[in-house]
Amino acid sequence: LQANQVQTSGNRPLHKVKHIIAVASCKGGVGKSTVAVNLAFTLAKLGGKVGIMDADIYGPSLPILVQPEDRIVQYKDGKITPLEYQGVKLMSFGYINTESAIMRGPMIANMMNQLLTETDWGCLDYLVIDMPPGTGDIQLTICQTISLDAAVIVTTPQQLSFQDVIKGIYMFDKVSVPCVALVENMAYFEPKDMPNKRYYLFGNGKGQKIADDYGIPFMESLPLDPDLCRWSDSGTPAVLVMSESKISQLYHSLASAV
Ligand code: ADP
Repeated sequence: LQANQVQTSGNRPLHKVKHIIAVASCKGGVGKSTVAVNLAFTLAKLGGKVGIMDADIYGPSLPILVQPEDRIVQYKDGKITPLEYQGVKLMSFGYINTESAIMRGPMIANMMNQLLTETDWGCLDYLVIDMPPGTGDIQLTICQTISLDAAVIVTTPQQLSFQDVIKGIYMFDKVSVPCVALVENMAYFEPKDMPNKRYYLFGNGKGQKIADDYGIPFMESLPLDPDLCRWSDSGTPAVLVMSESKISQLYHSLASAV
C-alpha cells in the first residue's frame, strides 16, 4: 500500500456490499471497537455474511480484538484480500506495515481511500466500519468515499462523552447518514452473585433522553462486563464464547436494530 498512489477508478469492490454500517464515537476509549466487533459477529451469528473494516488509522484495535491464525495480508490482481475469522472478513491498518502514526493528513486520507476502495470484500450482507474517534477530516473522507447506510454511536454515561456525541450526530446528519442506534457502553455493573443489583458507576446516563431529543430510534445500555473485557484482550469476540450471557442478548437486540 503506497501512501502516494491513489486509485479512484470506477472499479468499486464495495458495490457487492448490501449494508454499510459505521460504528462511531467522538471520544476514544468508550468501547467503540468492542461494540463494532461484537455487533459484527452477532450479525454473522444471525446468518449474515459480514466484514469489519477497522478505519481507526492512528490506533487500530482489530488486530488485538480478533486474532485469526493467518495474519498475512495478500494482494491479488491489484486488490487486497481481507483476513478471516470464523467466517467474518477483517481489514485494518494494523495488518499493514505503515507508519501512519506519524503521517500528515493528506497522506492518511490517500491511504484511507485505498484501503476502503481496494479491499476485495466480495459479496457481503453487512460491512461494519469501526470509525476513527472524532469528527474531523478523516471521518468526512470516509463518509464521502463510501456510501454509508447507517451509523451506530457509542458513548459512555459521563457528561464529557455525551457532549461529544452530539457533534457526531450532527456530522452524520450533515452527510445524510441516519443514526439508527445509540449505545451507552459500560453503563452499569451487575455483580454475578447479585444479578438484580445494578451499580451505575459513572452516573445514570442520559442515553434515552439524547436518543429521544435527536430522533435516534434505538438506545441500548450495555453493562461493564469483566468477562467481555478478558475475552476481548485475548483476541476472541465475546459474543462467540458467551453466547448464553445477557450481553450477547443485548448485542442481539442491537443487531436487530441496524
Ligand atoms: P475505543 O474503540 O472506544 O477506543 P475499545 O473498544 O478499544 O474502545 O475499548 C477500550 C477498553 O474497554 C478495552 O480494553 C475493552 O475490552 C474495554 N471494554 C469495552 N467495552 C467494555 C464493557 N462493556 N465491559 C468491560 N470492558 C469493556
